[in-house]
Amino acid sequence: MVKSVNPATEGLIREYPSMDFGQVGEILNKTTSTAQEWAQVSCNKRAQFAHQAAEVLESRLDEFALLITREMGKPVSQSRAEIEKCAWVCRYFAENAPTFLQDESVPSDAALSYVAYQPLGVVLAVMPWNFPFWQVFRFAAPGLTAGNGAILKHASNVSGCALAIEDVFREAGYPENLFRTIITGPEEIQQAIQSDDIQAVTLTGSEAAGSAVAAAAGKAIKKSVLELGGSDPYIILEDADLDLAAEKCAQSRLLNSGQSCIAAKRFIVLDSVREAFTEKLISRMTTRLMGDPEEPDTDLGPLARADLRDDLHKQVTSSVAAGARLLMGGQIPDRPGYFYPPTVLDEVKPGMPAYEEETFGPVAAIIAASDAEEALNIANDSEFGLGAAIFSKDTKKARSIASRIKAGSCFINDFVKSDPRLPFGGIRKSGYGRELAKLGIREFTNIQTVVVG
Ligand code: NAP
Repeated sequence: MVKSVNPATEGLIREYPSMDFGQVGEILNKTTSTAQEWAQVSCNKRAQFAHQAAEVLESRLDEFALLITREMGKPVSQSRAEIEKCAWVCRYFAENAPTFLQDESVPSDAALSYVAYQPLGVVLAVMPWNFPFWQVFRFAAPGLTAGNGAILKHASNVSGCALAIEDVFREAGYPENLFRTIITGPEEIQQAIQSDDIQAVTLTGSEAAGSAVAAAAGKAIKKSVLELGGSDPYIILEDADLDLAAEKCAQSRLLNSGQSCIAAKRFIVLDSVREAFTEKLISRMTTRLMGDPEEPDTDLGPLARADLRDDLHKQVTSSVAAGARLLMGGQIPDRPGYFYPPTVLDEVKPGMPAYEEETFGPVAAIIAASDAEEALNIANDSEFGLGAAIFSKDTKKARSIASRIKAGSCFINDFVKSDPRLPFGGIRKSGYGRELAKLGIREFTNIQTVVVG
């Protein structure tokens, strides 16, 4: 059985039976047949269904937001924003997919030559719990509009969300079985990837899961996209607006209680402004309200699972034991639920977990740099390469640093966030491939060259 537990109360919400491969295989077969018919539907017509999905999301916003909050602990105001963003991505692809996927004429020696974007078939999506609706819609809105079918294997702690998402597509009028949720284990996922019913795989999650799934896809010679972890560096230069920098950094580090792949994680601050920046960051992190995530004013809920909270605490205590200075937080509160307070570590150095590893919770690691060049070197001294940010009033200088940062995205004077209009993804151990925007919808298409002699 797969359990859903409320991380704020530690109470069991529901148990779900795990499907064996016989049951998974039956679903894959049905999705394949439906996807074959769906591929024949025009892109304009497919786009209408995406509009309907946006309407269903909005009409059931309160219900879905509460479901997210109960299953993974996100403050309900943020769960609501997540559902609204899902509706946005559905509408964005409904409006733009027909243009993104229309044939593109390319002059050559032939009488006519062009590139066409054909559906691939059924794509398996292995997804994480941290944005349980958004991560799925970020893939499914373009994926289905491009003419594919989809199988969702969601994180085990958000099975209720997984089934609710399946229901959104059903209620929006998509063909039965075009989008299906499977609740199953890693062995069945390996078998599914080898099956002829699956044409490609996308995974958002940890390095370990990404490596296991991409290895199976490689063995079966199937396309994969990986959106993995990050340890985003935020560089604070001496000419930064420190109030703006501190506000954006606190927001980014504490959003979703710090459980975001693109949260600000390493704060690389020039010596001349380190004390002033740190004071401003702490004063902002102190005002954030931690508590019941179902209350509308709560800023910080619990972490999603006990083991995640315990792992984060170990990273903090090991960093302190290795010489980091604990400036705030760092204690597990004495209350039910998997809460962890906003925490600031100063004097973080190479070799410490807070420097080397991703911290998936509200823990800010401050790293000193003597100048911009050293800050850039520290920023790139990571196995990850997802997002990065630079704070400086000199945007020309900041853009020049951005061009040397090894990350899939770099924001100047703002925190990193995804936007349906802009491609999203990482390099190095943060993964490969892109989601969102024109590049994202084309990831799961057959880019077909057509030449008429
Ligand atoms: P996770 O443990 O890797 O789980 C992600 C998904 O992979 C879950 O559905 C999980 O299922 C499944 N999974 C785990 N091991 C598997 C295996 N061997 N074979 C097949 N499936 C497997 O990650 P998480 O703890 O849920 O999420 C946190 C991580 O995701 C962080 O590193 C975060 O940075 C990253 N993330 C990246 C992005 C991005 O866009 N780049 C976005 C969000 C999160 P079970 O739950 O059943 O184990």
